[in-house]
Amino acid sequence: MATIPEQYESQRVGVQGYRVLNLDLDGVCADYKGAIRDYLQRQGIDVPERALQTAHYNLTREDGWPFETLDDYIETHKAAEREHLYATMKPLPGVAQALQRLANEHVYIRIVTHRLFVSGQHQMVVSDTAQWLDSNRIPYMSLCFTGLKDSMQATIHIDDSPANIETLREAGQHVVVFDQPYNSTYAGPRIDSWSDTNVETLLTLFESCRSKGCAGGSCDSVRVTLVIGFRCGLCGRDYVSDRMICQLTARFLLSGLMILFWRPHDLKKSVPD
Ligand SMILES: [Mg+2]
Repeated sequence: MATIPEQYESQRVGVQGYRVLNLDLDGVCADYKGAIRDYLQRQGIDVPERALQTAHYNLTREDGWPFETLDDYIETHKAAEREHLYATMKPLPGVAQALQRLANEHVYIRIVTHRLFVSGQHQMVVSDTAQWLDSNRIPYMSLCFTGLKDSMQATIHIDDSPANIETLREAGQHVVVFDQPYNSTYAGPRIDSWSDTNVETLLTLFESCRSKGCAGGSCDSVRVTLVIGFRCGLCGRDYVSDRMICQLTARFLLSGLMILFWRPHDLKKSVPD
């Protein structure tokens, strides 16, 4: 068994411990839309190849797909699940090799997927997902089924869903966007495939995050407490108030906007009696 380098052997996530990758499956590791299209073709329903390049995440809003309503889509999805969609879908090119390389670099890979969003077939979904991961030689340490992706901190998340990208970033988490037509308007960092170059990019991002002192999640969510003061324009005295003690994010501090006010020792000397 390989020895784990000292800097990664702690179970604390972040600077002194694991580098954790929370990894989405559908649209990131597996070709979900291609598999749904294949299922429909087997039912005699033609879906043109151009329909795979959807501008929206939701298939009910797209030309070429036969879904008038969300219920139509859910029924098709459940039927495809019963034909073991999640055990048989195609992996995206190079994903196993890329993840194996990250695992070899001691990145803790945690699969986080929302595949239980439809009730009634959970045993099949969980079983087929585990089978797919094994048969496609995808390395991972944890397998989590949740749609609440911001409930699970990581050093880096990789996701394709616009809603997940927004939610995770609002929670101060680092997200690498996996390129899909429906997420092209979101800011990077992003990767467009599981190429060697993109694995290098991910490893660089992991180290960048560690060097900035990320503690389990985002560097920017590290909270600091500042004492805010101000100088009266009329009498020229400096004031500081308990009521003005507040918490700001490190990002705000680093922006420099608050640096002008960061004079706690000077201000304490001149607090009025
Ligand atoms: Mg996805």
